[in-house]
Amino acid sequence: MIEDSLAEKAKKQLYKAALEINLDPNLLKIIEKPMRVLKVSIPIKLDNGRTKTFTGFRCQYNNAKGPTKGGVRYHPNVSEDEVIALAAWMTWKCSLLDLPYGGAKGGVICNPTELSESELERMTRRYTCEIMPILGPHIDIPAPDVYTTSKTMAWIMDTFSQFKGYTEPSIVTGKPEILGGSKGRKEATGHGVALTIREYYKAMNQKLEGATVAIQGFGNVGGYAALFLSKMGTKIVAVSDYSGCLVDDNGLDVQGLLDCVEKHACVIKHPGKRIDRDELLFQEADILIPAALENQIHKNNADKIKAKVIFEAANGPTTPEADEILEKRNIPVMPDILTNAGGVVVSHLEWVQAMSGLYWEEEQVNFELERKMVKAFNTVWQIHNQRDVTFRCAAYIAAIERIAEIYSYRGLFP
Ligand code: NAD
Repeated sequence: MIEDSLAEKAKKQLYKAALEINLDPNLLKIIEKPMRVLKVSIPIKLDNGRTKTFTGFRCQYNNAKGPTKGGVRYHPNVSEDEVIALAAWMTWKCSLLDLPYGGAKGGVICNPTELSESELERMTRRYTCEIMPILGPHIDIPAPDVYTTSKTMAWIMDTFSQFKGYTEPSIVTGKPEILGGSKGRKEATGHGVALTIREYYKAMNQKLEGATVAIQGFGNVGGYAALFLSKMGTKIVAVSDYSGCLVDDNGLDVQGLLDCVEKHACVIKHPGKRIDRDELLFQEADILIPAALENQIHKNNADKIKAKVIFEAANGPTTPEADEILEKRNIPVMPDILTNAGGVVVSHLEWVQAMSGLYWEEEQVNFELERKMVKAFNTVWQIHNQRDVTFRCAAYIAAIERIAEIYSYRGLFP
């Protein structure tokens, strides 16, 4: 049997929720498809003098709620299908969190570890230039994702600004603070993951302190999630990244791991017991946090998971088939569109600050982040209990109902 594409998988999740609420089929015809997908060629001069042409994409999935928003990914597996799925998830995420945004995603097919910094800069600037016709602070606002950083955002901002002839800090979020980035943004997604876990434990009347955690992926999201969770008293017993997996039943030294990643760009150089990288998912831990890439938990490994609950810090780490297996096994999955929404919440705050030219203290940013995350968690929790549906279905229902209401006023143009 041929596997569904990622966009087909994302669609299945949408259909499930649409069926549950008897969504108007005419509306489904609009929101089941991306509004716009741009494919671009990105020729750049390599350091060795040769020219190489990369392929990039930008998908703006739906803008009913406002300008589209979403990250830019640099990875060999980037594809049109992947950016469509990721842009769809951004749309539902922004709606669930009630942000004035639609969803987008971009990416370039490349192996960033094989490119020098100046090659990456040229590739980023040329990519920005190619997608410029559909970019703008009121049109579409990029942000960091896998293998893109605040520096990448600075290059995008500068390229856009050079073309416009004025400095435009609101064109990207996740940029360095000195350029108008928000305090708390780089930690925001991991922080939001920790807040979601805290709320879940509170709602379940369970003690979070002492709970054991396994984290797949120790980049921006996984690393900060580990830091916030360890401050909340949990024990991080396993972490992995592309380089391998480290385990310690007594709890790993999170700050030591973060320092190691800063210095060596991998966790495996840190002292500790090593196991096979992909064994991370099957560790004995109360909480499993996939924080790497999509499709990690699938029909062939979902029955081996031992965690009591899964929090999706990555986008799309669980396939619909795995969802069904986990549901039968009574392992709740707190979905990506809620769990990792902290990043886009603070991106919104960054955009608001850049538009107004008034910058906030970290306490104010974190207060707003917490308020939004707790509110969205409570909405999902309530729908889950009222309708007896999975947390994913509940999150989709909240997101789609809001978009349906918007269409009820805006109508269908022309
Ligand atoms: P990142 O590039 O900073 O980190 C990715 C991590 O995953 C790295 O540690 C990498 O080594 C690891 N990894 C890659 N392949 C792996 C494998 N097979 N096994 C184990 N680890 C592996 O990226 P990030 O920004 O932390 O994003 C991670 C996920 O979170 C992605 O799905 C992304 O879309 C999602 N996300 C990111 C943000 C954000 O603000 N950065 C916001 C929302 C969602």
